[in-house]
Amino acid sequence: MAEALKSRELLVNRPEMRKSRPELADAHCHIESLSRETLKESIDYGVKVIVANGVDLASNLKTLSMSDGINVFAAVGVHPEYSGTISDDELEKNMRLARDNSSLIVAIGEIGIDKKFATNERVLERQKLVFGRLVELAIELGLPVSVHTRDALADALEILELKGAKRVQLHFFEGDVEQAKHAADMGYMISIPPMESSRRKRVIKAAPMQNLLAETDAPVNNAVPKDVEKSIAMIAAAKGIGFDEAAAALMQNTRRFFNIRMSNLMR
Ligand SMILES: [Zn+2]
Repeated sequence: MAEALKSRELLVNRPEMRKSRPELADAHCHIESLSRETLKESIDYGVKVIVANGVDLASNLKTLSMSDGINVFAAVGVHPEYSGTISDDELEKNMRLARDNSSLIVAIGEIGIDKKFATNERVLERQKLVFGRLVELAIELGLPVSVHTRDALADALEILELKGAKRVQLHFFEGDVEQAKHAADMGYMISIPPMESSRRKRVIKAAPMQNLLAETDAPVNNAVPKDVEKSIAMIAAAKGIGFDEAAAALMQNTRRFFNIRMSNLMR
């Protein structure tokens, strides 16, 4: 009995040991610097939905070319690392790319505000303006947004609310419990990366399950999409539910939020 319990525990704690793994969804990553082999490895491992974000024109083009609409779904955006200094012409090119491919992409992302990259007030203002215009574009195209913030969650929430954005993923959520509750009240999604912290666990506990997404932000911290397993395990532990149940709920949330239908997965 003790042995049986022990081996069961082993299986629960080490999902990679199981024969049939549940399907996993990575709701935010970047694939342009990953090899196709690495990507395939994660898909074969069980990550059947991968939402890949672009950060500038070259990365948007590469991400689009690597997406297949089966397991890999592209988002087009301008990351705040670049948006603070982007020219009108370059911004227009990115927006045109999103419009021309609006039926292929599942979101406008990655977009947002990042005070680390805002070296002065003018750059910060430009980040905010570009963010607002890309949120408007997402609403116009009927797409959700994948939003990055660093020391700027309150600023981003203000713009999102002002623009009337409804489908919002707060990627790599940096807020506290109160901000998580507010975001959930707005219907926004709180996206959890595979890095544990006590604040993050409190946020997961406080947020309704239907407002959670799991992500890797690969290749940040050398992550690959299959590392989403760690985010899912963290969510399962904080919610006090099994890994499989969490994985299934998060897959459903990811499909619903990005409007990725089952038929896409079976093609
Ligand atoms: Zn990202």
